Amino acid sequence: MVRLAENKHFTEDVESVKAPIPARVYLPLIQHLGKICNPIVKIGDVVTLGQKIAEIDAHVSSPIHASIAGKVVAIQDWPHPVLGRAKAIVIEGDTEINLPSFQLKNHQEIDLLSLEQLRKIVFAAGIVGLGGASFPTHIKLNPPQPLNILIINGAECEPYLTADARLMVEKTDQIAQGILLVARCLGVKDIYIGIEDNKPLAIEAFKKFPEFKVKVLKSDYPQGGEKQLIQNILGKEIGRGKLPFDLGVLVQNVATIYAIYEAVYRSKPLIERLVTVTGSCLEHPKNLWVRLGTPIKNLIEFCAPLKEAPAKIIIGGPMMGIAQYTDEVPIIKSSGGLLLFNKKEAQLLEEDPCIRCAACVRGCPVGLMPCQINLAAEKSLWNLTKDYGASDCIECGICNYVCPSNRRLLQTIKQAKLEGVK
Ligand code: SF4
Ligand code: SF4
Repeated sequence: MVRLAENKHFTEDVESVKAPIPARVYLPLIQHLGKICNPIVKIGDVVTLGQKIAEIDAHVSSPIHASIAGKVVAIQDWPHPVLGRAKAIVIEGDTEINLPSFQLKNHQEIDLLSLEQLRKIVFAAGIVGLGGASFPTHIKLNPPQPLNILIINGAECEPYLTADARLMVEKTDQIAQGILLVARCLGVKDIYIGIEDNKPLAIEAFKKFPEFKVKVLKSDYPQGGEKQLIQNILGKEIGRGKLPFDLGVLVQNVATIYAIYEAVYRSKPLIERLVTVTGSCLEHPKNLWVRLGTPIKNLIEFCAPLKEAPAKIIIGGPMMGIAQYTDEVPIIKSSGGLLLFNKKEAQLLEEDPCIRCAACVRGCPVGLMPCQINLAAEKSLWNLTKDYGASDCIECGICNYVCPSNRRLLQTIKQAKLEGVK
């Protein structure tokens, strides 16, 4: 693990606010790991806030909901923050009818929910892992064997990002209710919350609950990776090709737990999320509650004026996020951050030959040899990249960060991962 410059000071103490409701949202049919959804609305349909608008009958999938009320005006190819371009449903809204009207459910009814009922609610609400992985959450709530430990991931180890930290401070009670609900339904008694030591307010907030064991973690990167979290909290290693389930452990991100709370207690599907909008180009960086499908140009405008024009725009964190080619791209379920970097920060250093220093090998948190995978990938030796374990790469970016030759290791490893599943 490595210690990075945190740069969280821009937003960590600023209370989150709601971003203005956009006039149009662009909701990609794929916002999760799994099968792409099919639209179940057509152009001209009037949709209500939270109405399901796309789904697919597949095990690994998650439905999409209208994040504003209005009219479907197009179903078309549109910029996508992860895939470059993808088909999206475009809704034109009417701000008059966009006020949320989600109802609090009867608490007694919730106290009796079974795991299967919880799973159905979570699936119907379109909840996926909001820590960035976007794996459908209902599948994680269907463990192949009994679980005995629930770990809540409040590490938020990526520099600049503070959305999870703000959420833990501003929505402590709701997150706690969500955690207790998930733990009860799973029959789990041992509950840990992992929080990095750079979030003292969040640590204090959760220490008041006797049901939780708050684990204060070092602010090292990538502390928030599932395997690293389990290792640092439980002292147990998850071997190659193994999952937390194999140790009887479930890991859930705090933002995902909050979405579960909203779905169960307020009957609210996943239509908005907290996003850190930050970077040295912004005069007023903020954590914003953003309706899914909002183009990032709206958020940049809301945080204006700009100190200088951004040289690079990233959705996600600086280590694992993806650089964007247009400000028309929308926020989707996995978008926890929006970074606006100036010329100096965005500077791409020239790539030199590998000097075989092994810094990337020492830095890799999952024990890979990034330099070897890179060499094999450059020669399109995909069987070899598979043998070297490319599929175990968690895409943390440390190898790029530590390489003195500025090798673009992660980029080729990503390519090797894609080739490995063909
Ligand atoms: S190979 Fe993957 S997991 Fe290892 S350091 Fe590079 S990006 Fe991280
Ligand atoms: S860190 Fe860079 S230079 Fe050193 S072995 Fe890895 S790829 Fe080669």
